Amino acid sequence: MAKKIMKILGVLVVLLIAAIASLYMIYLRPVMNKMSETSTIKYDKDLTLVIGGGGNSGILSSDSLVIVIDTKMKDAAEALYKTAKEIAGTKPILVINTHYHSDHTGGNKYYKGSTIIAGGNYSPEFWKKEAGEEGMPTLWLKDKMDIKMGDDTVTVLNLGKNAHTQSDIVVYLHKRKMLFGGDVILNKQAPVLIGSADPDGYMMAFDMLPLRFDIQKVVPGHGTIGGPEVITDFKTYFLDMKSAAADPSKKDEMLAKYRGYTQIPLFMSNNAAIRAFKKKAAAK
Ligand SMILES: [Zn+2]
Repeated sequence: MAKKIMKILGVLVVLLIAAIASLYMIYLRPVMNKMSETSTIKYDKDLTLVIGGGGNSGILSSDSLVIVIDTKMKDAAEALYKTAKEIAGTKPILVINTHYHSDHTGGNKYYKGSTIIAGGNYSPEFWKKEAGEEGMPTLWLKDKMDIKMGDDTVTVLNLGKNAHTQSDIVVYLHKRKMLFGGDVILNKQAPVLIGSADPDGYMMAFDMLPLRFDIQKVVPGHGTIGGPEVITDFKTYFLDMKSAAADPSKKDEMLAKYRGYTQIPLFMSNNAAIRAFKKKAAAK
């Protein structure tokens, strides 16, 4: 009897492993492959955008300084560093991290001796625990900073309210009317709303940013670049997921509407977004 049970259990374990492996092959691997691909856009003489390979990045140069916005992960992080170094030559490089997640900070370790700016609502202990000690930020920005870059001005702004994380930073290039939204603004990708993430903070940002800045170009944290519609589309996504959370009869319609969004089952998906809104409503 015991032998038979063991045999059945053994078969079940094998089946379970096979099921997980095929789920990985079917769902996760294509998404991971898509997210690790990079494409480089020479936007103008002084601005290069590198899309994918973790979070989207920008390399902006002036006569005396090069700014790198988000440092990517793995191979893409090293490639971005090489490109930035080529552009910079002997000029110093300043790094800005939109938030602490490793797909945006994985390359920080390459920028030894550089100033690295991140949101000031993180404590250094928190950062060390979550993102590692190597390539830790050197400047914790509490509110706002303006940096003169040739004929453009770069505003680095701490949102100051939990949205994607407890200290998201956005970067605005005034002359180019371009916003780097970090993961508070995504283009056709489901958000990750775990840990200290707060859907209400996103909603605040969607309303506040277009009032504060004249935004004509948007570089989202993930997905292709676009115009101001990237923000309004993502706001509509949040409103739709909120309505699906409040009214179960709308759920299927909303899941179908956003089926084409990049998703990872359980934590970066339309279902997970609806769950996050339900949790938020229950806590009120
Ligand atoms: Zn990200």
